Amino acid sequence: MSSVIPEPTQPTTTDYIDFCPIDTPLATRRKLNVGDIYINQIRCHSCGWHIRSKNRHDFVTCKCGKVSLDGGSWYQKINGDMSLVSDHSIMYKFGVSDV
Ligand SMILES: [Zn+2]
Repeated sequence: MSSVIPEPTQPTTTDYIDFCPIDTPLATRRKLNVGDIYINQIRCHSCGWHIRSKNRHDFVTCKCGKVSLDGGSWYQKINGDMSLVSDHSIMYKFGVSDV
């Protein structure tokens, strides 16, 4: 299976925060297929780029290519040199314990 790798600057993926603000209740998020991470973002200390995964399968790589991020609202999967990474993610306001 071949896949086209989108340019990082083009908004080719659906961005869930467009329709799911930070105070969206858990039950509503589940109906919309949105997980618990509001902003899934890391910073690469080698090139200085912040990269953000906007979708479960939105795999993004920083400018220098040393770190990558995946998972969107569902999980934070980081590839590369972890010593270069700082976590800048923000969780949704309401989690499982609020149901
Ligand atoms: Zn980098």
